[in-house]
Amino acid sequence: MHPALKTYFQKYPADGLLITNLNNVRYLSDFTGTNGLLLITSTRGYFFTDFRYREQATNQVTDFEIVEMGRDLFGDVLERLKDCKIKRLGFEAPTVNYAQYLRLQKSLRGIKLVPVTEDPGKLREVKTEIEIKKIAKALAINKLAFEEMREMIKGGVTEIEIKTEIEMAMLKHGADKIGFDTIVASGWRGALPHGVASNKKIKVGELVTIDFGCTADGYNSDETVTVLVGETSLPVLSSAEARRNRRHLSFAKERTGRGLARQLEIHQIVFEAQRAAIAVAHPGVKCSDIDKAARDYITKKGYGQYFGHALGHGVGLEVHERPVLSPNSTDVLEEGMVFTIEPGIYIPGFGGVRIEDVFMCTKSGVRRLSKIEKKL
Ligand code: ZN
Ligand code: ZN
Repeated sequence: MHPALKTYFQKYPADGLLITNLNNVRYLSDFTGTNGLLLITSTRGYFFTDFRYREQATNQVTDFEIVEMGRDLFGDVLERLKDCKIKRLGFEAPTVNYAQYLRLQKSLRGIKLVPVTEDPGKLREVKTEIEIKKIAKALAINKLAFEEMREMIKGGVTEIEIKTEIEMAMLKHGADKIGFDTIVASGWRGALPHGVASNKKIKVGELVTIDFGCTADGYNSDETVTVLVGETSLPVLSSAEARRNRRHLSFAKERTGRGLARQLEIHQIVFEAQRAAIAVAHPGVKCSDIDKAARDYITKKGYGQYFGHALGHGVGLEVHERPVLSPNSTDVLEEGMVFTIEPGIYIPGFGGVRIEDVFMCTKSGVRRLSKIEKKL
């Protein structure tokens, strides 16, 4: 039995455990379909699904007894549970909704319901080698896709064009699907930490934050690159145009000069903040302390008020899962955990920078799994 499940049986007074979180069902049974439930007792394990998945379950699920039910799995399993000798049934409290809870209560008279209040992702926070390989594969697709499209990040291109291109490239390079709505935030929109791509045209001299990821074999990648759109993409002007534009250009240049200094400054600070977090990330360290290392660095440099979100999160079957790297997280880093470190600075009216990489916790520290170079 999975060690986390053993802990649940020790911690909660239950003789059966109902697993309804689909990611946990997949994690424990290898079933990749959309309708499945697990019932686990101290000696046996049952996998329930409906007829659509009969064939698939036979191929994928090997450690559980497969039971075919009607499409209303939840209701049918309750019927079946009445015949079991379970007296106390544990259920994943964060996953079961109120209507389902009422059904549990109504159908299972005589069976005591024991809410397991752990975050369902807790079960999956320490990754196996196979899982880490799958995450690395999704991140390798990120790199291929980014390299393929980076040439097109230039003045005049819209954020949506960038999003479309990178998403297509990820699919082309082997992604099962896009992991989440790709964020492309250029110029002033960079101050929106979750600025999904818009019709805004990118301008030369702007910072562009691109946060993207995909799913490969069910596992996710999540990575953010902030680039500065370079001079090389300036339009070539005829001499007459250049004369006409001279006054305007010198004004723009002066402004860009000041803006540029600040762009470089905040990028460097975010880069160093990530390094500060990496330096403290070891097994046994509180995730809140990793957050603190990056946050303190940004604050020391005078930009603390512009970093308003958590430093990072676990990545796996879900894009956001355990552990949580935030000021009030109670998680402790363990070998085998896979998570992002993604500090940022977002200045309203000016723009922003975020750098996000995926790391795995090793015996002696962390190893970066994402491969795209983040230096400006
Ligand atoms: Zn991200
Ligand atoms: Zn992230």
